[in-house]
Amino acid sequence: MTTQRRNFLRLFGASGLATSMASWSLPTLAASDVATTLAKSSGRRVVVVGGGFGGTIAAKFIRMQDPGIEVVLIEPNRQFVASPMSNLYLGGLLPDLSTLTMGYDQLLAQHDIKMVYDSVTAIDPQKKTVTVSTDTIDYDRLILSPGIDFRTEEIQGYDRQTTPEQMPHAWKTGAQTQLLRQQLVDMPDGGTVVLTVPAAPFRCHAAPYERASMIAMYLQQHKPKSKIVLLDANPDILVHAELFKKGWKKHYDGIIDYRSAQKLIAVDAGKRSVALQSGKEIRGDVVNLIPPQRAGQIAVAAGLVGRDKSWCPVNELTFESTLKKNIHVIGDACSAGAMPKSGFSANGQAKICAHNIVALMNDKEPSEISGIDTAFSYVSAKEAASVVSVFATKDSKIIQVPNSGGVSPDWSETEAAYASSWFKNILTEMSS
Ligand SMILES: Cc1cc2nc3c(=O)[nH]c(=O)nc-3n(C[C@H](O)[C@H](O)[C@H](O)COP(=O)(O)OP(=O)(O)OC[C@H]3O[C@@H](n4cnc5c(N)ncnc54)[C@H](O)[C@@H]3O)c2cc1C
Repeated sequence: MTTQRRNFLRLFGASGLATSMASWSLPTLAASDVATTLAKSSGRRVVVVGGGFGGTIAAKFIRMQDPGIEVVLIEPNRQFVASPMSNLYLGGLLPDLSTLTMGYDQLLAQHDIKMVYDSVTAIDPQKKTVTVSTDTIDYDRLILSPGIDFRTEEIQGYDRQTTPEQMPHAWKTGAQTQLLRQQLVDMPDGGTVVLTVPAAPFRCHAAPYERASMIAMYLQQHKPKSKIVLLDANPDILVHAELFKKGWKKHYDGIIDYRSAQKLIAVDAGKRSVALQSGKEIRGDVVNLIPPQRAGQIAVAAGLVGRDKSWCPVNELTFESTLKKNIHVIGDACSAGAMPKSGFSANGQAKICAHNIVALMNDKEPSEISGIDTAFSYVSAKEAASVVSVFATKDSKIIQVPNSGGVSPDWSETEAAYASSWFKNILTEMSS
């Protein structure tokens, strides 16, 4: 293990969240049990779809605020692998994804949440039911936090099955992230990594630039003749551009070749090349292609996305869809005014949504929101920076409070300590 990785793990406290979180055991419902146990609801029930940053917190806070409401959480995976810090794994600072992984047992036991490990394939807003593989489950109110899907149809030559195997996106953490890491390790010294950034909005605007930093750090240490070409569809770096430029000059001068306003229009996965709107074609030895994004597929299938065909418009007080009654959408999938698409925002939206659903189900007025988002990015093994934003509701819209928040003055070890501590806290809150 390198000294850098050892130091990082000490700072990060990599004691194995996954291990401690997996120590509880509670019987959960297989899809085949659903017909007998969940087909008919008695009393009031909220169904939550998606056990990620938004869904876990919404399920927990409804139970905490009104134990008289039954909560059913539906998620296909028995473990959730978080995306924050996954760039550090790509840079070689984490040996595997275990510190990003959590189970659900403790959350379910502690808050008496019913779990169905399955995917929702359809929603009937009239009958107020969701369909899983073997049955339908009814709800009084439904919360969707399904995360993102990709608008790959906008990229000529992109095959949804095969292209990600050759040009991984690694934008949903797990096997894709491991594949990208392996491709970086296997790349000969002197190779070129191409990283493409889609036009905003997409999941976590800071993350592509943090990823470029982490990959550059890895190349500098292990493949010093290599470089990374960062093709950004946006006019400039989306988050604290000056800090990133300063950090790259200091740490990775000559390694990161940043090119703005480079929209990707086609791929040839076999040749590992990407074609740009400008007419240029660029080949990489490793291509990390992050496609443009939209709300998770179930939200699209249920007719919850708006005129942009990408994101779900919601009442910005209750997160109830403006298109379908009794269905609330939180997290990356929704358009939440000024709030960015981040795990921190999904966490805050889940709490506000839960609070206001409990109010509505108890014939009370919903409350206005007040929330924050802090986006941390690492530039090196030891240094990070952050952007803090404060949000409030004004005229039924979520706005960024003027003259609040701000960007940290520089990259620092203190911000890196805050970042790792934020991550441990949020994962603990989601899993217990
Ligand atoms: C590289 C990277 C770095 C990031 N770093 C940060 C960071 O530092 N800070 C930060 O705040 N955010 C960060 N993010 C963003 C953060 O991961 C997302 O904003 C967050 O996960 C959104 O939460 P969500 O609940 O909307 O979706 P998710 O957390 O993705 O959860 C969605 C869940 O829904 C489930 N699901 C989907 N469809 C169905 C269905 N039909 N039926 C049942 N379940 C379903 C999925 O399996 C998944 O578990 C980062 C993202 C990336 C890619």
